[in-house]
Amino acid sequence: MRQVIGRFVAILLVAGASSSVDAYLKLGTPVDGRVVDVTWRAPVRYFVSDADAGSASANDLLGAVSRASATWQAVPSATVRFEFQGITASVPGMVDGRTTLGFQDRPELDRVLGATSFLIDTTDGAIVEADVFFNSRFAWSVSAAGTPGRVDLESVALHELGHLLGLSHSALGETELTGTGGRRVIASGSVMFPIAMAAGTIADRVLQTDDIAGISDLYPAADQLTTTGGIAGRVTKNGQGLLGAHVVAFNPETGAVVANFALNANGEFAIARLEPGPYILRAEPLDDAEVDSFFSSAIDVDFRVAYASRMVVAPRGGASAPIEIKVIAK
Ligand SMILES: [Zn+2]
Repeated sequence: MRQVIGRFVAILLVAGASSSVDAYLKLGTPVDGRVVDVTWRAPVRYFVSDADAGSASANDLLGAVSRASATWQAVPSATVRFEFQGITASVPGMVDGRTTLGFQDRPELDRVLGATSFLIDTTDGAIVEADVFFNSRFAWSVSAAGTPGRVDLESVALHELGHLLGLSHSALGETELTGTGGRRVIASGSVMFPIAMAAGTIADRVLQTDDIAGISDLYPAADQLTTTGGIAGRVTKNGQGLLGAHVVAFNPETGAVVANFALNANGEFAIARLEPGPYILRAEPLDDAEVDSFFSSAIDVDFRVAYASRMVVAPRGGASAPIEIKVIAK
């Protein structure tokens, strides 16, 4: 069975429209004609709903959410803070001033493990409230080592908390089609990849380089602007900008992989919060995932994978000179 984590239930949100060229992997909302990051401007004060699921209790969920929030808080290059407020009778999905995470029985969403919804102040992009539901239809696991056949609650909580913090999906992952028409993850390069790993695994309890770059871009620690670098450029096809091209930066010295999309009609992309150093850049079509997990409109996927003609250096405290990656139709 294919399991999509967290389609955003978008309230006042430009679904899939990530911020402009200086941003990536992030949710955005238009303010005064430009797209700004959607972020918390205060610690995330959250409640956990008192509803149990058949396979896990509200207390189990509280434990999983506590561990997942601690994982995001522990990223040294970012400043993220969660504050647990208590168990509540409120349910997720209600605009009630309480950021609530909880189990809900959603039989109609039989492939959705969980989802995050937002209330955003559209004058400045601040998140006012966000709710996360975890579908109690699934067999959840809260065991330290995972449980065969059950979905790891902490892993899904880590992914949903990434959305709650303002991250969108990452396309760093590989899937293959299964006999029933679904997709199975064969390699994941990011917790924010939209398709969950197979039941029984706990690998997604650990943030990867791409997740860390994204959260550090949204909530940079004080030294980030001077200690990291960025890469900027554009992807073109027949001389025209290519919206939606996926650009992957690979550092051959460290093995780090971070990616973003060309996010406007000029094909411009930017990848920020990189460890300074040389990167190999690859542009590829988004043809290994469902486009609507990333973009709200159609994008061009008819092109071959292409590499930048040279290595690009992300300089400490700055951004590379813009580079153009030219692709050709399949
Ligand atoms: Zn998701």
